Amino acid sequence: MKITEMWKKKQPTVSFELFPARNAEAAEKLDRVIDQLAVMEPDFVSVTFGAGGSTREGSRQLVELLKKDLKLEVMAYFAGYGLGPDDIQGVLDSYLNLGVDNVLVVRGDPPHGQPDFKPHSASLAHASDMLEFIRPRYTFCLGAAGYPEGHIEAESRQKDLEYLKLKVDKGAEFILTNYFYDNRYYFDFVAACRSLGIMVPIVPGIMPIFSVKMMNHLAKLCGAGISSDLRQKLAALPEGDIPALLKFGIDFAFEQCKELIAAGVPGLHFYTMDRSQSTIGVLARLRQEGLI
Ligand SMILES: Cc1cc2nc3c(=O)[nH]c(=O)nc-3n(C[C@H](O)[C@H](O)[C@H](O)COP(=O)(O)OP(=O)(O)OC[C@H]3O[C@@H](n4cnc5c(N)ncnc54)[C@H](O)[C@@H]3O)c2cc1C
Repeated sequence: MKITEMWKKKQPTVSFELFPARNAEAAEKLDRVIDQLAVMEPDFVSVTFGAGGSTREGSRQLVELLKKDLKLEVMAYFAGYGLGPDDIQGVLDSYLNLGVDNVLVVRGDPPHGQPDFKPHSASLAHASDMLEFIRPRYTFCLGAAGYPEGHIEAESRQKDLEYLKLKVDKGAEFILTNYFYDNRYYFDFVAACRSLGIMVPIVPGIMPIFSVKMMNHLAKLCGAGISSDLRQKLAALPEGDIPALLKFGIDFAFEQCKELIAAGVPGLHFYTMDRSQSTIGVLARLRQEGLI
């Protein structure tokens, strides 16, 4: 089912992001995580795609498992960086054959650890170009990525929003945001989008904190700001106490979700990092308190 249809019947939807396992050990762990997360009955699950086609087969297999074996609704991501038109169609045709209805189109970044990777000579420069290519050829419900704090390469916040509008004009029917630790970024972002005429649903991404090292690492990569208040609260936790950190992360994300739900968001999308505990912890509390 197209997610835009789903939102006509239910809001907020609850969804989880998964990425394909990199090795056999991770695959075993991912199987367990999927079983645990499936119990939470998500409205859909998403599967990342390594730019340059680096996870092409792994992504396809994971989509197949979720869609065909577990009968879950899937949003497949597609990162077109470095790919030529035939590759783009090859990947999307494989998703079409699996019965996928929803595709999030992102540009992607040069693949990690592949210094010799050469983009296809006809590869497209931006997600808006990819949407322009894909829209007339496929009937998927298409989405695009949005950055409440601005994309790290953006010339300016305003330009970034204008390019986001271009993605919608080229066919994106919804926007899925990068995660953030301060809801004000999301609220200001939505207001700025609306004033620019971007009227599609904007789904907030949530990443419960489960590791300070990982949080710092990803913040640098994705540009999610960490306030001094949040840093102080994390610093006040007993050092090395993982259960205390996990509980903090769950409480923090719960409060974020509570405020987002009250504001009427169309969905809550959890970046699970292929872990189940924190996402389940947040959802269990939201359900316990009758918020979803
Ligand atoms: C929800 C979500 C899911 C993601 N999933 C994946 C994934 O599965 N695989 C993966 O590899 N990466 C993924 N990413 C990361 C993403 O690929 C990177 O953030 C990438 O750097 C930008 O992708 P984009 O689609 O936003 O690119 P674009 O929309 O092309 O934007 C990239 C930069 O170029 C600028 N820009 C945009 N259009 C134009 C234009 N026409 N002319 C000039 N400048 C322009 C923008 O302001 C921005 O700074 C995801 C990100 C998010 C938020």
